[in-house]
This record gives sequence, structure tokens and C-alpha cells, in this order.
Amino acid sequence: MAKQSTTEILSDILERVKTIDPVNTRKWFDDLHIAAFDHGLMQIACPDRSCAEFMQDNCQATFTQAAQNITGHLVSVNFLDPGTQPAQVLPDHIDIPKHVRLHPDYTFESFVVGPCNRLAHASCIAVSQNPGTIYNPLFLYGNVGLGKTHLLHAVCHDARKQRQDVSIQFLSCEEFVNGFISAIEKGNLNDFQNQYRTVDVLIIDDVQFLREREQSQEEFFHTFNALYNNRRQIVLTADSAPQDLAALEERLISRFKWGLVARLDAPSYETRIAIIKKKAHLRGLDLPEGVAELIAEHVKTNIRELEGALTIIYATAQTAGVPITVNLARQALGVQDVTSSKNVSISDIIRAVSDHFDVRITDIQSKKRSQSIALPRQVCMYLARSLTRHSLEEIGGHMGGRDHSTVVHACTKIEQMYKTEPDFRDNVDRLTNSIKQHA
Ligand code: ADP
Ligand code: MG
Repeated sequence: MAKQSTTEILSDILERVKTIDPVNTRKWFDDLHIAAFDHGLMQIACPDRSCAEFMQDNCQATFTQAAQNITGHLVSVNFLDPGTQPAQVLPDHIDIPKHVRLHPDYTFESFVVGPCNRLAHASCIAVSQNPGTIYNPLFLYGNVGLGKTHLLHAVCHDARKQRQDVSIQFLSCEEFVNGFISAIEKGNLNDFQNQYRTVDVLIIDDVQFLREREQSQEEFFHTFNALYNNRRQIVLTADSAPQDLAALEERLISRFKWGLVARLDAPSYETRIAIIKKKAHLRGLDLPEGVAELIAEHVKTNIRELEGALTIIYATAQTAGVPITVNLARQALGVQDVTSSKNVSISDIIRAVSDHFDVRITDIQSKKRSQSIALPRQVCMYLARSLTRHSLEEIGGHMGGRDHSTVVHACTKIEQMYKTEPDFRDNVDRLTNSIKQHA
């Protein structure tokens, strides 16, 4: 058997991992390398500690499986952060501290800023650079899946970058409550209190969880005061604004409003597209033209679901062994119903639009650029895009041999008019219905 270099082995393993576990595949896997490989133990070095933790938590089983497939040996895999030397013997477990487990994906760099989250993002940056001085407490709120937890991780990543020795406690409110209950049971309330009252930064996610937990609220109230009085930073998130957390004590609610309260809203279409592209990039995926747009059109409120859609598309392509295309994405998301059941053709569309706008079919398919013809032509392209499964190139081909960027431009323009001009929208809707009925 030919001997392979560790680089080759790793690249084979990564290929395999991509297929077995697309969800946890990341672009930075390119930066992994095999630090040691002997006695059946493959030790893979990661770019930083949070990556190592991510790998240890999410990827050990898949990497082990892939390593065994590739090498044909009973290999086990572990992951090292940059500061750790490869172990000489197989350890029983890897000692990764339990506190503040940061997700390597959740950084400011990977966070897309738009009108929906600008204030929250800016205030998190300010806080991570100067904890305890500007916005204290910082209170973020918004519906589920809009990036609150992501921003909290980013604050931790950045605060640590600014000052290595900064002490941060970052936990979910549920952990706080459970820790408190167990401290009472075990009679070590003092330790519990010290743990939280002496840090530089205390970050608690989802404080709505304090609802109906009167004693925990009381404890948290004192923790808050201790930190606040010592100018230590407090960052909190919740699913609603402080004043709407009705089941919390008034004195807590009023404290939540002392600093800065920032709301996260659902992202706009443009922001959704940017997020999908960012996520795809993070996973090392090349999305062809139109796929991000398709996802953004169909998933509107929750960013976690945007990612879910991306995962489904990727997994479908991997399983079928084909590249990602708009058609595949439609199938994967199950959004082709309207078009496939009714079999609308581009000719149906051109005919209907020509009737409606009273322009000749030959003009629509010509090179003429006058506005009276260009607009109906753009409507054709838009409808062809939403009602058929033809590619951008094919649609352009039917419209007098135009290229795909012209089709994209037309679709964007018509979409915009559709959104902002009610009369136009009515017309397009009527056209759409009539085309579907006559198909
Ligand atoms: P929340 O805590 O508000 O429920 P999360 O922070 O868990 O939401 O976010 C859900 C998912 O959406 C995460 O994977 C996160 O990375 C992603 N996400 C949310 N907002 C953004 C954004 N603006 N840019 C990039 N990813 C985002
Ligand atoms: Mg969250």
C-alpha cells in the first residue's frame, strides 16, 4: 500500500466528513493539521481554542469514523488547541475547561449587520472593548433566532482578545437558576455568590427564565447590585423588552433599563441574503446565483431556519452527489409546488404579458430598449423566475438572448416595484393568477 502523507490523509478525512456531517463542516477545516499520529491516536491541531472545543463537542465521532474509513485502522481522534502539545499516550479524556464554552462560529466577523440589529451589534462591540464603562447593563431583546446568543459569544471572544486575563462568566439563565438551587441544597451559597459577584463581565442569556423563580430573582438582584456598584459589566438578553417581562419584580425590570436596551428585529430580505451568503462561506460552500435569494424568499422570520434551509440544500446535494443548483434548492425546500403542478411555460408568460401590456410578442423578444417594451419584458423575466424552473440563462435566452445578470437585474427591479407600488402589485398578481389558470 502506498504511504500517504498526513496532509493527504487529513484531506481524505475532511472529504469524508463533509459527506457524513455537512452541518458541522466549516471552511476553517482547511487550517487543521495532524500534529501527531501514533499508537492509534490521531491528534489534530485546531486554529484556536474555541475551534478545538467545537471539534471536541461536535466532530469527534465523525472524524473518528472518517479516520477509520480512510486509514483502515482502529484510530481514535482528538483535537488540540494551539497552546497544547500532542499527548504521548492516549488520554482517557481531553481536559477542556467547562466554563465559557465559546462557539467559534459566533464572532463579530461572522455577524451580518443590518437595520434590524445595528444598535445591538454596535453596543456589543462597545461593551467588549470597554466593559463596565459605557452601557451598563446592556440588555438585548428580540424573538428567538435573531442573533442574541451569537452576539453574546462575540462579546466574549472580543473581550478576551482585548484582555487575556479578563474574567467572564457567561451562562444561560437556566444554568444560573439551577446553580443557585444546587448551591442551596449543598449549602455552599457563598461559593456560588463569589463565582458571580467578583467577575469583570457577567453575561446571562434568556433572563425571561427568571419568571416565577422568586428566590432566584432575589439572588440575581443582589448579584446585579454587587457588580453594578463595582462597575463590572452586565450583559443580558431576553425574549421581550424589560417592561414586558411582567412576571419579574419591578426593581429588576427597572435596573434592566438603567443602561442600554437594544432590540433585534427580523432581518430584511437583503440582510437575509447577506446572512445566507456569510453562512455558506463559513461552511466553504459555493452557492450559485439565485440560491440565497430563493432561501431568503421562503424563510422570513428566523435566522436559525435560514441556516436550516442551507443545511437541507447542502445535504440533499451531497446525498445525490450533484452540485447545488436553484432547481435542486427548490426541490430540497419543497417550494416548487406552484410551478411544477401547473407546468407554466415561458411562452404562456410572454403571451399573457403581451396581452396585458398590449405589446407585441416579437417586441418582448427583441433587442428594443424603449421603456414601453422594457418593462413588460422585465415582468416576463420576473414571472418566469417565480413561476417556472428555468435557469437565469434560459430565461434570458427567451428574452432576446439576454444574459443572466440582466435577468437578475429585472427581477430585483420588479420585486422592488412589487413591494412599493400597490397598483403594480395588483396587476402582477392578476397576471400571475391568469397565467396559472390557463397553463
Ligand atoms: P437567539 O439567541 O436570538 O435565539 P441565536 O444567536 O442563537 O439567536 O442565532 C440563531 C442563529 O442565527 C445562529 O446560528 C446565529 O449565528 C445566526 N444569526 C443570527 N443573526 C445573525 C446575523 N446577523 N448574522 C449572521 N448570523 C446570524
Ligand atoms: Mg439564544
